[in-house]
Amino acid sequence: MSSEVYLPECVVCGRIKLNGYWYQPFQTPPHFPNYRGALCPECQARKQAKKEQLTTPQKS
Ligand SMILES: [Zn+2]
Repeated sequence: MSSEVYLPECVVCGRIKLNGYWYQPFQTPPHFPNYRGALCPECQARKQAKKEQLTTPQKS
């Protein structure tokens, strides 16, 4: 019997989404080489903010 459960894991901070919440595991399991993974809301927001900072021209 295989009880494979796919848990989305944040590729940035390694948190794992479980039941709608993001948990920080004690030890981050290694990713598969081709793992694209997920982004937790925090990292996603940070990434988005960074992107916007880079792409949005400065307002005068
Ligand atoms: Zn994260």
